Amino acid sequence: MTDKKGGDAAGDARVDMETLVSLCKRRGFIFQSSEIYGGLAGAWDYGPLGVEMKNNVKRAWWRANVQERDDMVGLDAAILMHPEVWRASGHLDTFTDPMVDCRACKSRFRADELDSDVCPSCGQRGTFTEPRMFNLMLRTFVGPVQDDAATVYLRPETAAGIFVNFENVLTTTRRKLPFGVAQVGKSFRNEITPRNFIFRTREFEQMEIEYFCHPEDAARLHAQWMRDRMAWYARFGMKADRLRLRAHTPDELSHYSSATSDVEYLFPIGWAELEGIANRGNFDLTQHAKFSGKDLNYYDDERKEHIVPHVIEPSLGVDRCLLAFLADAYDEEVDEKGEKRVVLRLHPQIAPVKVAVLPLSRNEKLTPTARDVYARVRMHWMTQYDDAQSIGRRYRRQDEIGTPLCVTVDFQTVEEDQAVTIRERDSMAQVRVPIAGLVEALRERLVDVG
Ligand SMILES: [Zn+2]
Repeated sequence: MTDKKGGDAAGDARVDMETLVSLCKRRGFIFQSSEIYGGLAGAWDYGPLGVEMKNNVKRAWWRANVQERDDMVGLDAAILMHPEVWRASGHLDTFTDPMVDCRACKSRFRADELDSDVCPSCGQRGTFTEPRMFNLMLRTFVGPVQDDAATVYLRPETAAGIFVNFENVLTTTRRKLPFGVAQVGKSFRNEITPRNFIFRTREFEQMEIEYFCHPEDAARLHAQWMRDRMAWYARFGMKADRLRLRAHTPDELSHYSSATSDVEYLFPIGWAELEGIANRGNFDLTQHAKFSGKDLNYYDDERKEHIVPHVIEPSLGVDRCLLAFLADAYDEEVDEKGEKRVVLRLHPQIAPVKVAVLPLSRNEKLTPTARDVYARVRMHWMTQYDDAQSIGRRYRRQDEIGTPLCVTVDFQTVEEDQAVTIRERDSMAQVRVPIAGLVEALRERLVDVG
């Protein structure tokens, strides 16, 4: 499944998708939705480790893009919106894919993803129907009557919630241009062919920014956002040679967009979009002003003029980002005994578990101290306690889920020095520290170096 044309550095083998899917299921990162009923295509459930990691990805993004900046605020808009929103945004009319059916086996495909007239499901040739347009928005009804008047859509992107709240944010925060609004939330697209694990799903989560600015500043700020977003991936340890910026060609651009670049990552399936960074002009605010009848102008004090702000939109999928972090961190090496060591070299802020507390054995002399150390540490970080099987196997289990630090309690701890061993995931180096200074010692090693 690995696409070798992506330009791998020699010896830097990428993990294949099957290995990642298997690790995610076996260790409790990601499960198939409704698995005991045979699953539901295009939906995935995050397990105990997956939910931690996903929260960490969102927190890392929010911190860099909202907390650390003085020109950004947050928002959490409802998934259900007035249906006119989607008329204004163009989604009702144009958010469609061409779809064909196989007359022989009834399978359905996106026409633009077929290479030939051979059906990928049944192998027959020339069995496709003519392409028909298929709207990707998922529909439901509000209220007790299920008719057209009650039809609403599960939002296909979070961005619209920001645009319709532009005036609310502007007046309540007294912001001046340029400023941005960030939002994290679920979106839904009725993909004809969801695939590649959590890369393309029908229910997914987005992290989107709408950065409003004066039209004259848009090109400069678009370039700045591209630099900022690339720096964010570097900060959290993503490999530079698996990331690239690719500018859209003129025929890929939306009619309203003057420039869009994709941040692409070298996934197990090859180079693919991780994030889009678009210079959207004033299309959205203009459309929502027109359809809502509300004035969405901005009065520029200095220039003494009314303008419709332009907008830069960095838009990223949480699930896709998590997949990139997992693929990027995956490593295998052979240890001194000739055994394979699987390590997720995740940045400490992204790793689902930060610390594991491991008594050397289940000996009753060790347990009270080990439980006490565990109780102290878990007040600060997500921590696991594990006393099953050999210490070597337990280190391996923690390496495989990316836990940066293990703390080992041994007989020396309880009989001699009230100190424990900290073992680092990547170097496997060990250092002995007193229990009294353990939290500080762990904190030093877990800080965000970015
Ligand atoms: Zn077929």
